[in-house]
Amino acid sequence: MKFAENNNQAAEYLRQAVPLMVKHNIPPNPLNYALWYTYVSDRVPELNAQLDKTLTTYGTCPTMLSEQLFRDHMIKSEIQGSEDIQASLISLINDLHEHAGDAAKESENFSEVLEDSLSNLEQAEDGESSLPLESIIQALYSHTKKVSETTRLFQNRMTEAQAEIESLKQELNKTRQDAQVDPLTNLFNRRAFDAELVQLTGITDPQVVTSFVLVDIDHFKRFNDTYGHLMGDKVLQYVGKLLKETCPEPMLPVRFGGEEFAILLPGTNKEAAAAIAEQIRSKIQAIRIKQKKSGEVISSITASFGVSQLISGEEAEQLVERTDKALYKAKDSGRNQVVVSD
Ligand code: GH3
Ligand code: MG
Ligand code: MG
Repeated sequence: MKFAENNNQAAEYLRQAVPLMVKHNIPPNPLNYALWYTYVSDRVPELNAQLDKTLTTYGTCPTMLSEQLFRDHMIKSEIQGSEDIQASLISLINDLHEHAGDAAKESENFSEVLEDSLSNLEQAEDGESSLPLESIIQALYSHTKKVSETTRLFQNRMTEAQAEIESLKQELNKTRQDAQVDPLTNLFNRRAFDAELVQLTGITDPQVVTSFVLVDIDHFKRFNDTYGHLMGDKVLQYVGKLLKETCPEPMLPVRFGGEEFAILLPGTNKEAAAAIAEQIRSKIQAIRIKQKKSGEVISSITASFGVSQLISGEEAEQLVERTDKALYKAKDSGRNQVVVSD
């Protein structure tokens, strides 16, 4: 569950939740606080109904029930995805195991049939067998057919399983994304960034400064067209790594989307933020990638930067828009440069 309230709203919920918890003798631990915070925010009506019912019955909310309500209403969507994927994988593995078992049993039977047939043939040669040659061959034929049928079924199942694994992989990727991490670069994604930005824009203390940097790789479409999408992905991963190394906490580098990155710099003014952007610009310009096939060294990667400092009272959206304008100025003025917003 995401909490997108601004600081004032969140503080109001705090003021309402704590007395309620005291009144009903609820232990003030983080789990209960999340539960009662959500209760007073009135955003999950089913949770409120169940808590009301529990209070009527017990006069409080017993710990076990609180934990259950927390799981069912607060983090269900987060755990549901991975539980579903886990269940699908287990059933897939069981199914394959069963098919593999059938195929193995069939081959074992077949070995026995081969041995019997061989001994029958030897006996027939010595004139001792009661079985005619034709029925020995018939038995061999029908068992061969059975084995090849089982093997074919197993092969089909394997092909299907491969497709299922691929789609599970995609679901898993989606769940990871929901968990706020971009799978290609391992940086936080836009969703994580938005939550952080809302919190920072809520700070009213004029002494506290926050800056914001937008990074956009230059002519990246052309790069992909020239060197291929996979090579493009490598560049994005490399830039992600570079941002992580250059922007330690409390700075927050994120993949903003596509070939765009963003950095939140709490406690940093725009001059200092521009200096960091300049450092990153020069590191990106220095990237050299040797192409395995041709041996050619790619040295044409650059990026443009927009930098701005949060103005007191400014909304998150306005800040992004203003920084985007600075970024486009950088693009218009020939790219590979840092432009600071007024
Ligand atoms: P500009 O200098 O004006 O920013 O030009 P540009 O080509 O970088 O900008 P444009 O918005 O036209 O194209 C962005 C390109 O980024 C197109 C898209 O294929 C590429 N891109 C976006 N996400 C990914 C990705 O995950 N991997 C790869 N390889 N390419 C991506
Ligand atoms: Mg772009
Ligand atoms: Mg670009």
